[in-house]
Amino acid sequence: MAAPRPHWLFGDQLGPHFLDPRHGGPDADAPVVMVEARSVLARRRFHRVKAHLVLSAMRHRAAELGDRVTYVRAGTYAEGLAKALGRGSTRELTVCHPTSRAALEFVRARPGVEVLPAGGFLVPHDDFARWAGGGRTLRLEDFYRWVRARHELLMDGDEPAGGRWNLDHDNREPPPRGRDTLGAPEPWRPAEDDIDAEVRHDLDRWERDGQVSFVGRDGPRLFPATRREALSALRRFVTYRLGDFGRYEDAMLAADPVLSHSLLSAPLNLGLLHPAECVERAEAAYRAGEAPLNSVEGFVRQIAGWREYVWQLYWHFGEDYRHRNALRHRAPLPGWFLDLDADAVTANCLSTVLAQVRDTGWTHHIPRLMVLGSRALQDGWDPAAVTDWFHRCFVDGYDWVMLPNVVGMSQYADGGRMTTKPYTSGGAYIHRMSDLCGPCAYRPTDRTGERACPYTAGYWAFLHRHRDRLAANHRTARAVHGLDRLKDLGELLAERDRRDGDAPP
Ligand SMILES: Cc1cc2nc3c(=O)[nH]c(=O)nc-3n(C[C@H](O)[C@H](O)[C@H](O)COP(=O)(O)OP(=O)(O)OC[C@H]3O[C@@H](n4cnc5c(N)ncnc54)[C@H](O)[C@@H]3O)c2cc1C
Ligand code: SF4
Repeated sequence: MAAPRPHWLFGDQLGPHFLDPRHGGPDADAPVVMVEARSVLARRRFHRVKAHLVLSAMRHRAAELGDRVTYVRAGTYAEGLAKALGRGSTRELTVCHPTSRAALEFVRARPGVEVLPAGGFLVPHDDFARWAGGGRTLRLEDFYRWVRARHELLMDGDEPAGGRWNLDHDNREPPPRGRDTLGAPEPWRPAEDDIDAEVRHDLDRWERDGQVSFVGRDGPRLFPATRREALSALRRFVTYRLGDFGRYEDAMLAADPVLSHSLLSAPLNLGLLHPAECVERAEAAYRAGEAPLNSVEGFVRQIAGWREYVWQLYWHFGEDYRHRNALRHRAPLPGWFLDLDADAVTANCLSTVLAQVRDTGWTHHIPRLMVLGSRALQDGWDPAAVTDWFHRCFVDGYDWVMLPNVVGMSQYADGGRMTTKPYTSGGAYIHRMSDLCGPCAYRPTDRTGERACPYTAGYWAFLHRHRDRLAANHRTARAVHGLDRLKDLGELLAERDRRDGDAPP
């Protein structure tokens, strides 16, 4: 009998399902090849904690696989494969569908490679193509309901559990008044081991040698690097923290950046968890009366809705999508933002969130969208550079997840293919949803003058700049009409023109 073909495992395919023939993986006894390619880290300035997490997770997986894996450290993927398989080798390989276009092109260009189905998602590409066919409008809500029904998630027969598909109305409350923290049980956190020590040592050495350069601060690893750790994190979230997830999903508290969020994006995107097990466990908690429906529906929506939708849109929108710039925003990212220099920033919301990114490589979705992304949108930063920044600085950032979230959702650079309106707001929204404005040197209500809030002034200036386009959109037309009632618009625009665009707000 012919020896089984080796299977190449990428660094975001680390869970057991990627090697399980029942999930479309390779033959059960296929030898495994893993390549730690230095070029990936050398090409761009990643966050230090992200580099640590990915290398730690890959090396932990290799240690688990023992003799089954050939783990190669090399300059590039091509060199790594040559080392693992023999130079000039034409041996046939299998690989699960990679998560980026660049990686897919690379594997397809190699002779003898069979690309197996993507292992880390609920919906196969073909099923999505059938759903999206016929020129239908792609709406998250329709897609999400289709996934729920098809995968029998939170369903009572043909009806959604509790009679409603969408419980957003019960969610998204401001943080409780007068409280610094939600007081939720602490999220799961790992203890580092010898593999982490080795990774830290290597990263220090490569940085000293000038081979790589990082942004952000190093610190103890905060996210799971093994399947076991990922399961512990999932268990702790579902058992102790899911209950308040929905209610405070959009709130921000300076002293409690995590609130009731799951912190599961990193292990999900490393492939350590499968989305099905996350939503099934959340549903089981609801069925057992241990978590309320609004939280469970909110969580299922994030994973079975948003995450799947974003993954499919990445492939559906095509390669061109990354270059979209419908608003013609061309300003470069300022140095303080590139360097995560939170201390240089006066605006309390931005300084607080930038410090969270600098220190942990993570913030939840509202700081990403309404503080970081909104600053970039209001100041007209180049969307491709903003996408690159998010990709490099976030522990859960990968090409597939960044493009729709940043180009589409956050920067409206696709002109409305993904969302029906740009997501940005004045300081009033941040004030309502957080405790960040109280200690700030600016006032969320002030549009002009010394204490003008950069988000409030930036919001009106953004509407003014794109007045024609936004007036023609029924979701933003009313806001644009509001411009005509502003008596101080001229002053506001003059103040914005006078400011140094590169200076931190
Ligand atoms: C500008 C911007 C950039 C983002 N970049 C990323 C990114 O690089 N990687 C990433 O995984 N998510 C990204 N998101 C989505 C979301 O912010 C993060 O998934 C979430 O904050 C991660 O924290 P959590 O695991 O505690 O999430 P929770 O709030 O607990 O949500 C549960 C899970 O839902 C999934 N999810 C929810 N929304 C999305 C979404 N829009 N896209 C993909 N998955 C989603 C994630 O897997 C997440 O773990 C981005 C959102 C915005 C607005
Ligand atoms: S006043 Fe404006 S800049 Fe200050 S925290 Fe509030 S929204 Fe941010």
